[in-house]
Amino acid sequence: MPPVPFAVCSMCRKQLYVGERIYRCSVSTCNSGKVKLVFCNTGCWDAHLPTARHRSAYALEEFARRD
Ligand SMILES: [Zn+2]
Ligand SMILES: [Zn+2]
Repeated sequence: MPPVPFAVCSMCRKQLYVGERIYRCSVSTCNSGKVKLVFCNTGCWDAHLPTARHRSAYALEEFARRD
């Protein structure tokens, strides 16, 4: 089975595949609407924080899966 593309990292644009470990931002506005942010590691999520100006946030670890 070839790897199934899932998304690209919102920060570094690395290609992510279904079944890989990914990180999401805990802030709901980063996971709703047109822009659903996804990160390849916590470093990329960290880099998202200064631009997003969240008051409190954490990274949610999950596995990429198709809906
Ligand atoms: Zn990344
Ligand atoms: Zn965020």
